[in-house]
Amino acid sequence: MSLKTKMNNRLKSILCLVVALVCLVCSFAPVSVYADVVGDLEDQRNELDEEIKENEEKLDQVEGEINKNESKLDKIKSEISDIDDELSELEDKIDELNGDISSLNTDIETLTADIVAIDALIADIEAQIQDSEELMADTKEQLLNRLRENYMAGGGSKLEILFAATDVTSFLERQELIAQMSNNDTALINEMAAKVGELNSLQAQLGEQKTELESKKEDLKNDIQQLADRQTDLEDTKSTQEDKKSEAMDKHEELKGVIAELDKDSEEYKAEIARQKKERDQIDKQIDEYIKQHGSSQGDTPDEDYNNDGKMLWPVPGSTRMTAGYPAYSNGDRHMGIDIVRTDVTTKGSPFRAAQGGKVIIAKNDGAWNYGFGNYCVIDHGDGKQTLYAHAQTLYVSVGDVVQKGEHIGAIGSTGNSTGPHLHFEVRIKKANGDVSRVQPLDYVSKP
Ligand SMILES: [Zn+2]
Repeated sequence: MSLKTKMNNRLKSILCLVVALVCLVCSFAPVSVYADVVGDLEDQRNELDEEIKENEEKLDQVEGEINKNESKLDKIKSEISDIDDELSELEDKIDELNGDISSLNTDIETLTADIVAIDALIADIEAQIQDSEELMADTKEQLLNRLRENYMAGGGSKLEILFAATDVTSFLERQELIAQMSNNDTALINEMAAKVGELNSLQAQLGEQKTELESKKEDLKNDIQQLADRQTDLEDTKSTQEDKKSEAMDKHEELKGVIAELDKDSEEYKAEIARQKKERDQIDKQIDEYIKQHGSSQGDTPDEDYNNDGKMLWPVPGSTRMTAGYPAYSNGDRHMGIDIVRTDVTTKGSPFRAAQGGKVIIAKNDGAWNYGFGNYCVIDHGDGKQTLYAHAQTLYVSVGDVVQKGEHIGAIGSTGNSTGPHLHFEVRIKKANGDVSRVQPLDYVSKP
C-alpha cells in the first residue's frame, strides 16, 4: 500500500516535470535547462529501475519458495500413495488370513464331528466289552458249578486249585482241569476268550484313532491362534499406516495453504512490477523527448564533417554473435535493440564502433544506472537517424564530438542492467514531425 502511494506521488512529480519540460520547450528552451530536466527524469527513472529490480528479486524469492513447497507437496503425495499401496497390500493379506482361518474352522468342525463319532464308537465298544466280560463271568460260574458236581467225591485238591483261579485267563491256563472238562465247555470258553481279545484290540485301535484325532484338533487350534495373532499384528500395522497417512494428509493441506498464500504474494509482486514497468515506459519516452529537442529529423541534410555515406556499419568488429534481438527477449520482455558479444576474443574491453558518421548528442560515462544502459552514448547521424550504444566499460567520446563511420567510440562492458559483457545497440528514427521511434536495428545494419 505504502509503495503504491509512493509510486503515485512519484508519478505526479514526473508528470509535473514533463509539463515543466513541455512549457520550457514552448518558450525559449536553453540547453542547460533541458539537461537539468532530463537529469531529474533520469534520476526518477533510475530509482524506479532499482525498485523494479528489488521487486523482481522478491518475486524470484517467492517463486523459489513456491517451487520448494511444491516439490515438498509432491514428496508428500508420493508418500501418501506409498502408504495407500501398503494399506491395500495389508488388506489383501488380512482377507487372505480371514479365508485361511475360516477354512481351518471348517476343518475343526469336521474333526470335532469325527471325534464325537469316534467317542460314540468307543462307548459302544466299551459296552460290548462290558457285556462280554459279564457273559464270561456267568460262563465261569456255570463251569465252576459243573466242576463242583463232578469232583465232589474225590480230587478235592484240584477243586481248590480251580477256585483259587481269580480270572478267566489264569483259569484257562490250568491244563489239567481243561483236560477234564467236556468238549462243549472248552469251545464255549475259547469263544469267549477270542471275543474278549477281539474287543480289547478294537478298543485299543479306536483309542489310538481318538488320540490321533484329538492331537490333530489341537494342532489346528494352534494354527488358528497363530493366524489370529498375525491378523492382530496386521491390523496394528494397518492402523499405524492409517495414522501416518492422516498425518501426511494434514501436512499436505498445510502446504497447499502455504502455496496459496505464496501465490497471492507472487501475484501482488507481479502486479506491482507490471505497474512500475508501465511507469518506467513513460519515463523511457523522455529520452526520446531529448532526441526530439536535439537530434536531426528525416529529410535533414547531414553535416559534411560526418562524412556520412548513409549506410550503417555493424557496430562490433570481429563478431556477429547476437544474444538477444529486437523487439523482445526470449522470455517475452521488451527489448528495443540487439545485444552483440565477441566470440573470437574476450568481449569485455573489446572496442565497438560508430555505425555511421555523426555527432555525439548523449554520452554518459559516469558508471551510473542510466535507464539500465549504464555507460552509453547516442550519435545523431544528421538525417533523422540516431544510434545508441550501451553497457560500455568506458566511452572514448563526449557530447558534441563528431565521429567518423567505423571510429572506435568505446569499450564493451557490463554496466547498468546487464548480466554479462555485451554491446546493446539501438537505432532511433526521428520523423519530420518530431516523433521518435525505436526500430529494428537489423533493418539498418547487417552482419558482415
Ligand atoms: Zn540489450
